[in-house]
Amino acid sequence: DNRIARISSAIRVIPNFPKPGILFQDITTLLLDPKAFKDTIDLFVERYKDKEISVVAGIEARGFIFGPPIALAIGAKFVPMRKPKKLPGEVISEEYSLEYGTDKIEMHVGAVESGERALIIDDLIATGGTLSAAIRLLERVGVKVVECACVIELPELEGRKRLGDKPLFVLVEAA
Ligand code: 5GP
Repeated sequence: DNRIARISSAIRVIPNFPKPGILFQDITTLLLDPKAFKDTIDLFVERYKDKEISVVAGIEARGFIFGPPIALAIGAKFVPMRKPKKLPGEVISEEYSLEYGTDKIEMHVGAVESGERALIIDDLIATGGTLSAAIRLLERVGVKVVECACVIELPELEGRKRLGDKPLFVLVEAA
């Protein structure tokens, strides 16, 4: 698909952000290219439109950019999965381990119902910790996670392994 090359070249790589030694994949430049941004959304919509997805769960913060246009196009609801203490209502949360310490993501109670079919969206998978917590959170409330999808995968970190048997779809692999 020749759309992938354009998407890939629209992603900017910034060395030493947010810490020395990290090569940060910056998707804000992809958003500046309306054709590449639209192609990104279209590729996901083409894949998920006939999969009976009822909920698109987007991970803070950049899953909030890609998730809603996909949800609207496939006729699904959008549910934000947020960092701790951001959501105002009653939440359920799920912890995951980082290199040093732990983090958490939260979702509103009542946002999804048991038996729903979800697609989880984020911009990038690194170690897979964030996506694995999102999967557990949705499965705890009886939701079937059909697939996880990201714009970018860092394959060297083998985050895919942390997702168990859950399928992961990505558009671009970065070094
Ligand atoms: P993981 O939990 O897979 O280790 O990390 C993925 C999370 O960290 C995602 O929510 C993603 O937005 C963020 N992240 C980590 N590295 C990068 C990066 O290089 N670029 C961007 N855009 N996000 C990153």
